Amino acid sequence: MTPSTDRNAQLFERARHVIPGGVNSPVRAFKAVGGTPRFVARAKGAHFWDANDQRYIDYIGSWGPMILGHGHPEVVDAVQRAALEGFSFGAPTEREVELAERILALVPSMDMVRLVSSGTEAAMSAIRLARGATGRSKLIKFEGCYHGHADALLVKAGSGLATFGNPTSAGVPPEVVQHTLVLEYNNLQQLEEAFAQHGREIACLMIEPIAGNMNFVRASVPFMKRCRELCTQYGALLAFDEVMTGFRVALGGAQSVYAQHIPGFEPDMTVMGKVIGGGMPLAAFGARRAVMEQLAPLGSVYQAGTLSGNPVATACGLATLNLISQPGFFDRLATTTASLVQGLRGAARRAGIPFSGDSQGGMFGFFLLPELPQNYATVMTTDGARFNHFFHGMLDRGVYFAPALYEAGFVSAAHTAEDIAHTVAAADEVFAEMAKG
Ligand SMILES: *Cc1c(COP(=O)(O)O)cnc(C)c1O
Repeated sequence: MTPSTDRNAQLFERARHVIPGGVNSPVRAFKAVGGTPRFVARAKGAHFWDANDQRYIDYIGSWGPMILGHGHPEVVDAVQRAALEGFSFGAPTEREVELAERILALVPSMDMVRLVSSGTEAAMSAIRLARGATGRSKLIKFEGCYHGHADALLVKAGSGLATFGNPTSAGVPPEVVQHTLVLEYNNLQQLEEAFAQHGREIACLMIEPIAGNMNFVRASVPFMKRCRELCTQYGALLAFDEVMTGFRVALGGAQSVYAQHIPGFEPDMTVMGKVIGGGMPLAAFGARRAVMEQLAPLGSVYQAGTLSGNPVATACGLATLNLISQPGFFDRLATTTASLVQGLRGAARRAGIPFSGDSQGGMFGFFLLPELPQNYATVMTTDGARFNHFFHGMLDRGVYFAPALYEAGFVSAAHTAEDIAHTVAAADEVFAEMAKG
């Protein structure tokens, strides 16, 4: 394609004049992998088309929300009907109550939720609430986990920042993060030490139970069990950031997966986003009643939002949750996702390329490493140049994976066996190319 006909390149050029880096969220800029970002013109089902009318199989799904694929007719219908009734009122609506009831029925560790507009806002508010409810200041987070871009949580976060090699963002004063302890994921010894030293000052431990911002890394069952025990012992709140995993790895989220291995397991707080909005700006945080009643207007922890519980977004979220609650939905989705990972593994084996991969529900990760990594440092031992070769090889063949080696991937209910077969055939070609050097 010549520069004069490449609409993606033209749009990127125009965008860079008026939007920093040409994008409204850093990873979209392809900085890690190089090349020209694809500007999306439209999408349907498992596919989107770029500004050159080139079709791609979409394994990002807006970074998780599009679990039904793009433009599901029932969701589109719900959104259209809601839009006709009004975009936003700044006053309560029945649909918010319905959505809250639905979320609580699916995630029984929470008695109450508050709806907000982004995962960042939900995590930030959950931290404030945890601090307010416990009267403590310190937080524990893990290297490679991302909880949105609130100041206190922007400490060695994985996605986005890792591209630029910065452990923290400029513009965050040291005193704002002085209460945030950053530990290595799956490191039991560091966890024990942190609680032994600071246990009684810790308001909350926030964790991505299956981390999707350092590709795909599971917290081990013994590690999660110990997180739960130590939080209980020291009176800290265990906060699950399920913005990515909620309604994505299972209908009950990652907490329902851990509960299968740890009897009676529940987090104290849950942060949600992405799938609950079905592609519209919607997120939530929730906990037991006694904690949630600390929030304004009942309690002294302030939190608010002009567009919170937006009537069009809640319509989109409700329609999405209805459809994914149908019997067999997650079994089918998990089977498709596992078949993708299995297919990629086979392609890598045929070419003699080191490869490991994993999936849960509709979320997956793969590594050009012989074994699944357990923490961020190991994820980052991946050879970036080889990953970029794979990424661009797949992109050239119409397969859109995340443009960074530290991001998870997503499969939707609209992905077919044909999409998977196309992807695996492309991977066969690209891995063979890579094996030649
Ligand atoms: C995406 C994400 C967030 C931030 O959500 P936004 O809606 O992008 O603000 C927070 N936590 C996790 C685990 C996420 O994946």
